[in-house]
Amino acid sequence: MLELAEKTAKGSGATRIHRLHLRVGAMSGVVPESLSFAFEVVREGTMAAEAELSIEFIPPVCWCPRCQEEFGSIKYVFECPKCHQFSRDLRKGRELELADMEVS
Ligand SMILES: [Zn+2]
Repeated sequence: MLELAEKTAKGSGATRIHRLHLRVGAMSGVVPESLSFAFEVVREGTMAAEAELSIEFIPPVCWCPRCQEEFGSIKYVFECPKCHQFSRDLRKGRELELADMEVS
């Protein structure tokens, strides 16, 4: 992730990364707290050495094929609140992406 950020920053002629904004889905398997901790370690000696990390947490959203509707899952139980059918169609919540960053 940081490598990608550095590559993008260099591509735009920047030398420093000031802020990184990540989107982390609830189902991505990544815990925001441990991501922040890991970032503190890996940023050493990179363009992002003094960068701030902001993490946007994306709650899981499922699709119910029967109701043709999206629904937010509660406590990771993917049961449609209307028809009570379980859905495996996760529409949001697996994100792990660099949404935005500030460079100079
Ligand atoms: Zn339903």
